[in-house]
Amino acid sequence: MVELVWLKKDLRIDDHQALYQARQRGAVVALFVIEPQWLSAPDFSNRHLDFALECLGSLKSQLQSLNIPLWVYQGEVIQALSLLHRQIGIAHIHSHQETGSYWTYQRDTKVQGWAREQGIPWSEYLQFAVVRRLKSRDHWHRLRPKIIERPLYHRPSPQEPISFSCPWINKSWPSPSRDFSGSLFTGGREAGLRQLELFLSHRLPIYSKGMSSPLSAVDACSLLSPHITWGTLSMSELHQRIQQRRQHLLGFNDKLSQAQRQGLRSFESRLWWHCHFIQKLEDEPRLEFQCINPAYQQLRQNSFNKHYFESWCRGETGFPFIDACMRSLIERGWINFRMRAMLVSFATYQLWLDWPRVAQHLARLFVDLEPGIHYSQVQMQSGVTGINAIRIYSPIKQSQDQDPQGLFIKQFLPELEELDATSVHWPQSTPPLLRQLVDIKYPDPIVDPKVSYQQAKEKIFQFRQRPEVKALAQAVFKKHGSRKHKHFPRQKRD
Ligand SMILES: Cc1cc2nc3c(=O)[nH]c(=O)nc-3n(C[C@H](O)[C@H](O)[C@H](O)COP(=O)(O)OP(=O)(O)OC[C@H]3O[C@@H](n4cnc5c(N)ncnc54)[C@H](O)[C@@H]3O)c2cc1C
Repeated sequence: MVELVWLKKDLRIDDHQALYQARQRGAVVALFVIEPQWLSAPDFSNRHLDFALECLGSLKSQLQSLNIPLWVYQGEVIQALSLLHRQIGIAHIHSHQETGSYWTYQRDTKVQGWAREQGIPWSEYLQFAVVRRLKSRDHWHRLRPKIIERPLYHRPSPQEPISFSCPWINKSWPSPSRDFSGSLFTGGREAGLRQLELFLSHRLPIYSKGMSSPLSAVDACSLLSPHITWGTLSMSELHQRIQQRRQHLLGFNDKLSQAQRQGLRSFESRLWWHCHFIQKLEDEPRLEFQCINPAYQQLRQNSFNKHYFESWCRGETGFPFIDACMRSLIERGWINFRMRAMLVSFATYQLWLDWPRVAQHLARLFVDLEPGIHYSQVQMQSGVTGINAIRIYSPIKQSQDQDPQGLFIKQFLPELEELDATSVHWPQSTPPLLRQLVDIKYPDPIVDPKVSYQQAKEKIFQFRQRPEVKALAQAVFKKHGSRKHKHFPRQKRD
């Protein structure tokens, strides 16, 4: 009989409670399942699988050093468990709690039933500060430090090599296809640790100032999101590294140290938001499909414009900054927070597209897809929560503010190379003669920015005033709203 560690999005061996507890009890086998429901989900893309496979490649050699076999199975989890149980017997299943898309919730329910039938105990450990069956949001901010600020779990000591033979365990698994060229990320523990050290040693001082512009964000942000999503780094480890860095800066008061301290504060807040947003999906799994505030279901129903949607998806809306952001996301698999928010705002306000399809398209492009953050953020940015300030970004103003010289635009839209720093933000402003002369092959804007902005603003603010919408907003705030705390930005509320 073996202790089974069912790996999910926790692809590391350090500070791994499931592995630690399993090893305390006996001989361990690790299992990762590439499930058909994952591969066929509307928000899945090969870039997620590629990143996971790279992490598994790195994990396999780490586990080998502990003599723990890793079995990567393609198929249903219950098939894998049954096979393993028949062949060698499972004494106990250990895994980290997952708050993922709805299919993972249904899958976990089935596994629970199967394990109960077989008389196999299943222990789930906390990966993040996301609490199952949370009674009230009021005290969540007190629970988070208790969960995250704990001593780390040691890497288990090597076990005796397992003597039974399971030829299928060593069967090879698919190699990453890397179907997109310019990704910023490499999967695996070593890459995650390198990225963390790079961030703490070089990027911290420019983090807060550089995160808003897509030009500087790629050198200023931590770029840790896929590693946090796939658990190559644990949240408690990150917390400890922040504290160590803070300690190291004690006693220094020069400008650089101040900027580093500011960077640490900002980073720490974001890690709080991480768990705060995932808690929303944990509390209400329907958020993947339905508005947090159900009254908003009708807001954009039946208003889908295929041409607008496809132009937005391809980065061909005729709005240079929007298109550059989308094309950079297609190429790199990542874009910074502000630009994510702007892409959603443009799609759901100026193009008045309903958020679920917008969310799915972006989910397929983000290497770091984390459903709890993603669906809650998309809903927030498209104004359907009723508890957050309405923010309709002007793509032209964002372009002028965040990319004044048009360098980012030109990097991803080389067809606008000839335009100067004024007209690159809005090629319509180029004098017609010059437009002909430089022969710009770039689409005309698909909507009039002023008209679409005005229409969206009227629709959303009128809708927000409805009594039934306001009434539900209060309930949404009670269930999901961030309470007053130093790590949360103040929100404007109705
Ligand atoms: C529409 C939209 C969709 C998003 N979808 C995702 C997603 O699928 N996965 C994801 O990890 N982040 C998502 N975010 C949040 C944020 O944009 C990314 O976490 C961030 O850009 C990742 O880059 P980074 O690791 O350099 O972040 P940093 O700025 O260095 O932040 C560090 C970490 O904090 C967390 N974090 C940062 N910002 C936020 C935030 N606003 N809310 C919650 N957690 C945050 C992430 O884990 C991130 O890795 C989304 C934001 C928006 C507006």
